[in-house]
Amino acid sequence: MEIPDPFQTFVAKKYANSKGLVYDFFAKEWYLKTACCGEELYAPNKKTMTKIRLYHTRNECLGGY
Ligand SMILES: [Zn+2]
Repeated sequence: MEIPDPFQTFVAKKYANSKGLVYDFFAKEWYLKTACCGEELYAPNKKTMTKIRLYHTRNECLGGY
């Protein structure tokens, strides 16, 4: 496995953060494991998930900013 440079890692993480969205059919919720720190987030819909994710990265997570 190659060692990526920091910028590539940043882009990959940013991409993974929005792409890792999964719908949990059993819980009937959206599930996202954040790329920044691996925190697991749940939301009833995509719009709420986006809000929760932004709140997390801005207020809760020290890994992103
Ligand atoms: Zn985080």
